[in-house]
Amino acid sequence: AEAKVEIRKSVCTHCSVGCTVLAEMRDGVWVGQEPGWDSPFNLGTHCAKGASVREHAHGERRLKTPVKKEGGKWKQVSWEQAINEIGDKLLEIREQSGPDSVYWLGSAKHSNEQSYLFRKFAAFWGSNNVDHQARICHSTTVAGVANTWGYGAMTNSYNDIHNSRAIFLIGGNPAEAHPVSMQHLLKAKEQNNAPLIVCDPRFTRTAAHADEYVRFRPGTDVALIWGILWHVFENGWEDKAYIRQRVWGMDQIREEVRQWTPDECERVTGVPGSQVERVARTLANNRPFTIIWCMGGTQHHSANNNTRAYCVLGLALGVIGQEGGGANIFRGHDNVQGATDLGVLCHTLPGYYGLSEGAWKHWARVWDVDYEYLLNRFQSKELMESAGVPVSRWFDLALEDKDNIDQPDNLRAMIFDGHAPNSQTRLPDMKKAMEKLDVLVVIDPYPTMTAVMQDRTDGVYLLPAATQFETYGSVTASNRSLQWRDKVFEPLFESRPDQEILYLLAEKLGFADECFKNIQINGKEPLVEDLTREFNRGMWTIGYTGQSPERLKMHMVNQHTFNRTTLRALGGPADGDYYGLPWPCWGNAEMKHPGTPVLYDTSKPVAEGGLCFRARFGVERNGDNLLAEGSYPVASEIRDGYPEFTMAMLKKLGWDKDLTEDERASIEAVAGDKTNWKTDLSGGIQRVAIKHGCAPFGNAKARAVVWNFPDPVPIHREPLYAPKRDLVADYPTYEDRRMYRLPILYRS
Ligand code: SF4
Repeated sequence: AEAKVEIRKSVCTHCSVGCTVLAEMRDGVWVGQEPGWDSPFNLGTHCAKGASVREHAHGERRLKTPVKKEGGKWKQVSWEQAINEIGDKLLEIREQSGPDSVYWLGSAKHSNEQSYLFRKFAAFWGSNNVDHQARICHSTTVAGVANTWGYGAMTNSYNDIHNSRAIFLIGGNPAEAHPVSMQHLLKAKEQNNAPLIVCDPRFTRTAAHADEYVRFRPGTDVALIWGILWHVFENGWEDKAYIRQRVWGMDQIREEVRQWTPDECERVTGVPGSQVERVARTLANNRPFTIIWCMGGTQHHSANNNTRAYCVLGLALGVIGQEGGGANIFRGHDNVQGATDLGVLCHTLPGYYGLSEGAWKHWARVWDVDYEYLLNRFQSKELMESAGVPVSRWFDLALEDKDNIDQPDNLRAMIFDGHAPNSQTRLPDMKKAMEKLDVLVVIDPYPTMTAVMQDRTDGVYLLPAATQFETYGSVTASNRSLQWRDKVFEPLFESRPDQEILYLLAEKLGFADECFKNIQINGKEPLVEDLTREFNRGMWTIGYTGQSPERLKMHMVNQHTFNRTTLRALGGPADGDYYGLPWPCWGNAEMKHPGTPVLYDTSKPVAEGGLCFRARFGVERNGDNLLAEGSYPVASEIRDGYPEFTMAMLKKLGWDKDLTEDERASIEAVAGDKTNWKTDLSGGIQRVAIKHGCAPFGNAKARAVVWNFPDPVPIHREPLYAPKRDLVADYPTYEDRRMYRLPILYRS
């Protein structure tokens, strides 16, 4: 009899477009692969990378068993032996040098659940020495964009690009890096006659499709944008009503831009003045246009400036918050957005909660453990509330005087879980550092560069991880949309899913009962759905609360069967134009929030999910809705100086009467005493906000919006300077021109 064919749905593991993979199974064997034909991401296709995922998952070089290096030779070992030996070594290091002596390097290749667990695991180990690839790709975007308007993420989506009337692309090459997305650009060209402007020092395959190719000097992005804006302001093309209603600080930008005359812009960027004017005119005449950027804009020492300048261009011309407009920021790996959102970073907890006492208490509540327990694990309040070391610097720590093992900063063990440093600089230093470590652990489906780049003879362990096709869970594409991946086949050889490996390690290290307290364990494998539910309970900052595993699974099923009626009943997309559930997607009792395909949608009132830009100290009345921006009750905000405002606003909203006496006293004490801003206030304010159906807590009929976001940690707080002088030899005052920090207020 013919074998039964079954289709399993997964998501490509190569890039952040998030194309659906339909895996054709016969008797449990993955025999064929198709793109998701009805996925609005795929447009019926895969690129060459996506078309090869089945081969990658079955590659001959897969790591088949745990191995360790002994006397310069690789030796096969059992899982039990590997976990025992690694665990004993880590416990010894912890005993001698403290928990910060071990570094936990996670991955943008992990699912959301694995990322969340990884960050939680590091917290239970007691260290903020945790990070992943986003540090070296788009962390400058997150800092620049979040400081401009709140969420540091793509505002629209890949598939919204075909609604654009023009495309301004800078520092990206989607034809090669995000190939399927290129179809959306070409569709905009075809159906809207949308001019494609590509700014890049290098002529790329994407530039070959451009209507206007702008070759500019590397590192002069800000000058180029200011040069374009010079024409915009000079000709009065800016969107004056939009700026008046929604933007603070544009006058300062206008002042700055005045200096960027065509001659000055040409001198610095090398772009002819006539071309800069043509670009400005094209953008002004074709709105909404979208702004797209990628790592060509972000991997600069001045990249925060670049990303903020791109935002300012969109704000000046009024295209942020509209379909076909927005900032479409192309991220790299398939789950780099999710791993960032879930806090696999040395300076945040899941949901961009900072590291303050209040934030830790919030997560301790979600994790159902005492705050003191976590504090004990860290052994130091200071370490608990300080950013760890970023991935780009860990080797400096390891290279410090290693003979002094009492030195708390001394790094003695590295766990590379799904991370190979191929794209990092200073590889020789990294190699040296790897050789100085007491133990190096690499967890990956393949022996990576990390496994082989050092010349150690002992103390290296390679643990075979299952691929994403051998496990299941959710993944967040660059457009903030969560999709569910089915398990396609059982783990090959002796490989195990990362969540199981972390459980084995936690067991050995002695904190499995606490770390997995409310997570069902099957055999040794934590139930993925329980991990999703747990982060649903804690991720109020950015709206990861409405994407339950049931909804995510249902979305994938129904979108693939065109069952739009069922999908709409579940709060799914009405027009089928996007996939999954893009955050913010607020959870409440009904769990019907459809997600937010366009951030800051200017067509909606703020209280219905419309625009909610970062603002400081603003309280506005909007019909029956009182819009009160400026204080999202995250403890890091409170630490950064919001308690005074928080209390004033609570009073203004009339919510202060819902506080208990203790909470009131605590807030007033903190508000009045600026030396004590670290006191935890978040619990009480959150409770009040939930009671009033505050929008971040999932009620579209909220009578008020109280919303703000944690500042990035000091690591991002270098001054916002333009590129250094040495990039442009005869440019004397460039580094002295500061970009203005823009407080932006959206009134709706
Ligand atoms: Fe995979 Fe990206 Fe290609 Fe889509 S565009 S198939 S997600 S690599």
